[in-house]
Amino acid sequence: MSASTKPRVAVFKMASCDGCQLQILDAEEALLDLAGAINIVNFAEASSYMEPGPYDVTLVEGSISAPEQIEQVKEIREQSKFLIAIGACATSGGIQALRNTQDAGAFVRTIYPTPEYVKTLATSTPIADHVRVDLELTGCPIDRGQLLGALSALLAGAMPRISTSSVCVECKRRGYVCVLVAKGEPCLGPVTRTGCGALCPAFGRGCYGCFGPSQPPNTDALGRRLVDLGLPSKLVADKFRFITGWAPAFREAADAIADGRKDEEVAAP
Ligand code: SF4
Ligand code: SF4
Repeated sequence: MSASTKPRVAVFKMASCDGCQLQILDAEEALLDLAGAINIVNFAEASSYMEPGPYDVTLVEGSISAPEQIEQVKEIREQSKFLIAIGACATSGGIQALRNTQDAGAFVRTIYPTPEYVKTLATSTPIADHVRVDLELTGCPIDRGQLLGALSALLAGAMPRISTSSVCVECKRRGYVCVLVAKGEPCLGPVTRTGCGALCPAFGRGCYGCFGPSQPPNTDALGRRLVDLGLPSKLVADKFRFITGWAPAFREAADAIADGRKDEEVAAP
């Protein structure tokens, strides 16, 4: 197949740490195979050579955190046949969405010596809040296998299928001992989407939810279980408010737990 008939692929970045783009570059041999099947025409992390759109497949990393990114992502959408949001930042606002319920301006004034030069939005929001997204790959960072699987499916003319079951299911498949039951470790695996291969439980640690909510996530039951383990309800709420805390299911769970805490405080003698 000549280079001109291969699908044209572009990779763009909004507000992010570049870790998801590095997952693409780290794909090594698979990347070479991929390079034979697609034509990467715009990927600033990898090359200064860039072609304008239109693009067949576009990967967008990062959240919308700065005013100019709103127009930028709309232009990217117009140039893209199939747009994939990659990573926790692009799919739920990322760790930078912690500012969404705070005074973002106060952070800027505290951190930067010349805050007048920093133009930022008060919120960090996912790509899908601004343009139509055809597929979301979650994770901080994304799983390389999921990305390659999605691109391979598209090359074969099929719609990629991404599992929305929980990390717990993955632990059972792999025979990992449950850290929540066996060690009393606070673990968000029961309500977090699989995709990482249950990486944290494999090392005896609780999941902190970086792949975002599974479908459907029973956050009420898990919240009660974590409180039963002896965790203060504020800490339980904070666990839901972490890397993917702006995802609606985790945001609602955190707010419900925090509201319950307020009720308890009011009811206390
Ligand atoms: S999702 Fe995580 S690894 Fe990916 S860009 Fe955002 S912070 Fe970096
Ligand atoms: S176990 Fe949870 S926190 Fe760890 S990588 Fe997987 S989804 Fe992310």
